[in-house]
Order: sequence, then structure tokens, then C-alpha cells
Amino acid sequence: MKSHSLKIGDELTVVAERLNDDGDGVARNDGLTIFVPHLLPTETANVVITQVEKRFARARVASRQETASKGAAGQGATGQGASSLREQPACSVFGACGGCQLQHIDYQAQLAHKRDVIESTLRRHAKLPDVPVLPTLGMQHPWRYRNQVQVPIRFDERSGRFIGGFFAPASHNLVPTDECHLEPVAMERTVVAVLELLSGAQTKRSVAADGHVSDVPVQVPVYAHVHHIIVRQSFTTGQLMVILAVRRPLQGASELALVEQIAALPDVVSVAQTVQPQAHGPVWGSTVTVLAGAPHLTERVEGLEFLISPRSFFQVNTEQAGQLYQQVLRYADLRPTDQVLDAYSGTGTISLLLAEHAKRVLGVENIRPAVEDAKRNAQHNRVTNARFVVGEVEQVVPERLAKGEQFDVVVLDPPRRGCHPDVLHAITSAKPRRIVYVSCNHATLARDLGILVAG
Ligand code: SAH
Repeated sequence: MKSHSLKIGDELTVVAERLNDDGDGVARNDGLTIFVPHLLPTETANVVITQVEKRFARARVASRQETASKGAAGQGATGQGASSLREQPACSVFGACGGCQLQHIDYQAQLAHKRDVIESTLRRHAKLPDVPVLPTLGMQHPWRYRNQVQVPIRFDERSGRFIGGFFAPASHNLVPTDECHLEPVAMERTVVAVLELLSGAQTKRSVAADGHVSDVPVQVPVYAHVHHIIVRQSFTTGQLMVILAVRRPLQGASELALVEQIAALPDVVSVAQTVQPQAHGPVWGSTVTVLAGAPHLTERVEGLEFLISPRSFFQVNTEQAGQLYQQVLRYADLRPTDQVLDAYSGTGTISLLLAEHAKRVLGVENIRPAVEDAKRNAQHNRVTNARFVVGEVEQVVPERLAKGEQFDVVVLDPPRRGCHPDVLHAITSAKPRRIVYVSCNHATLARDLGILVAG
């Protein structure tokens, strides 16, 4: 391979040829691949190199050319000015915030891009060139759809107030903002109100000798141990749950008074805390305690009601969860006599949906509280033909199949790392009539489909 001499900080002009899987523009310079976030195919930009590796570099756009420029980069595609796919991002911190990557791209083009990513991954990694990949099922209005948000906060010494925001890409640097167009307005408003309450505790009432009363700032932030504000919302009822992620538990009269104040905010029905002492790392601690109000939110999806506790997994986009589950039901193509396995069943959403159309469903999930939620959800919906077991899918499933248990239809919905090969081998030898694989990671999906197809 030809060596290159690019260094961090170098400036050059490039033309993006295509998008990579993450939606970054891909340009070439002197044989080297350069990834440029927020640059679209055919666009030309002056960029600054931010990272250099053996096989690729990364750069950020310093300025983008708005008009066509022939052969500006000397290599690759010809620059065309702004792409017709370019969209004005809705959010004022887009680019600085690590949350969104595609707001500069027209939504229909985003959907097409996602479809293309799946197709090329299946072609390259699963060696399945002939699988038809259908168009992406998008939303009517792809904004303010999230039912959960985790807002990191910090104390700003200059203003004496707590501020919230989101982390910059791949960092723990807070990008301060009160807005996020992916969350409902009520969630934004609630985060701001909680920040106000935390900040309000930063002054102490003092009475001078002459009787004059004033509020003086305290030096040490009272709520320094609160590191994230988490808000969840039921789209069915509009009710909100606030979870404070803290380094040590909230305690004492004044801290519990704060909890009552949060519980009194509009639409808040539940306040909880999770203790996570680490400065950086996981947001959630190992347990969650409800401090005020209801122990769960209630959400309705596809005619079923789900009780959601603070830590329960629930698909983050409620409207699209309905679409997803409809597809699972459609592809499962159930018969009333079917025995169904729902592997990685979480709080039992898919199991309960399928149970109505099958003889029996078995859900397997390794988090005990999730299984307890699933059982409670089954009772709540009067579903009597769904059972749930706690265990690792890679142990429980091969074991049960070896004992002769039979499944006509298998649903797999693993986390990002995909399925353990033992699971896939056990399932292919058991020969169910249908397998429905729900995935949140196209790379592990392709790997696993390769194994399933080979079997
Ligand atoms: N089907 C559910 C949840 C899917 S999320 C829904 O749509 O709501 C994936 C689930 O798999 C999580 O609940 C996670 O706790 C569980 N999980 C992860 N690894 C597992 C394993 N090895 N065995 C069993 N469950 C596992």
C-alpha cells in the first residue's frame, strides 16, 4: 500500500463519492479513504483532518462549496455544489451533539440509504446476494418519537446553575441544550423544570442583623451527586416518569422534598432513583428505587397494554414498535396449533402479541425483572398461553430442543451482539417451519443469517 503523508490539522479539498453505513461522506485523496461527517455525495468541501490511521482518515468540514466546481479535488467525482438530498437540520446543536447523524439528509433519502446498507451488508457478509430487501418502513412524521431520554447534567460554576444537554460524539463533553427534536415537548419541558429545581437549591436564605433577607449562592453544588435526568413517557396516556441517576442515594428531608416537587410537575406520575457511583460509564446502577408515585407507566401497543417499570426495556419509538410487531406477526404466519419460541423476549411484548394467534408461546430472557414484567403483562392482558423463563438463550434453547421440545415458529430478537452460534445451530437442527429474526444491528444480522442459511 502506498504510504500517505496526511497529518492531523492538514487542510484539503475533497469531493464525497458516497455515504458509509454511518452516513458519513466517503472521499478519496491520494488513494486514501477519508470519512467526512455531514458531507453528501457529489458535494465539495474544504476539510480539516481530525484523525489519521493507516487505512483511512477522518476530517471535518471547514467550509462547503455551494456551487459546482469541476475537478476541485483533482480525483474522484466532480463537485456539484449542495446536494439535492441536503436538508436544513431542525436542531441547533446538530453536528456538535453526538445524538443524530443524518439530520442534514432528506428523510426519504435516509430511508433509502438504510435499505441500501442492509442490502450491501447481506451481499458482502452473509453472501446472500439474492435476498430481496424491501423498502424501509418509515414514519409519517419522524420527529419527537422517543419515549425515553437520558440527559447528562453538570453544575456550571459561572451561572451557579445546573445545565443539561447531550454528549459530543464519542466523548463525555457536554453540549448544553434544552432542545431535542426527537423527544416530546413534555419531556423537554420536564427536564428543564427538574434542572430549575436542582439549581434552586443553590442559594441559601440569609437574614442580616438589620433583618434584611437575601438569597446568597452556596459554594458547593447541593445536588452534585445527580448526574443524569432520565425521563420516560407513555404515548398512550402522556404520563411521565422521572428517574434521577445519582452517585449516592437521595436522603434527608430536603432531598426528599425535592422528590415531592418533581412528582408535582405536570403529568409526572412517578419519580425514581438509580445509584451509579462511577463518574463516567454506565448511566444506570444495578437497582432502581421508586421514591414517589406509581411503580410503572402504562403503554398500549397493537391492542395490548404494557406496564413499564423504570428499568424495563421498551422499544424507544412507540409508534414504530407497533409497525415492527405487525411485521413480526405477519412473517410468523401463525396457525392456531403452533408452538412458538420467543427468544430474547424482554418484557414479553412479542410473546403476548403472538400468543393470541398460536397454541402456546415460550419467552426466554436473562434479566429476571424483565421476566417478572412479562409475567405481570401476561396477567394484565389475560393471556394464559404464554410462559416465560429466566435464562441465557444459548443454554435454555439448545437444552429444551435436545429434550425433544418442539417449536413450529421461532422469533429471535437479540441485542446488538446477535445470537450465540449454539442457538442458531440448535434451531436449524430443530427445523421450525418459520424463523423470524428481529435485529438492531445489520452486521451481526448478516453473520447470523449466513449461519442459518448454511444450516
Ligand atoms: N423482544 C423484546 C426485547 C428485545 S431486546 C421487545 O421487543 O421488547 C433484547 C433482550 O434480550 C433484552 O431484554 C436482553 O435483556 C435480552 N438478552 C440479552 N442477551 C441475552 C441472552 N444471552 N439470553 C437471554 N436474553 C438475553
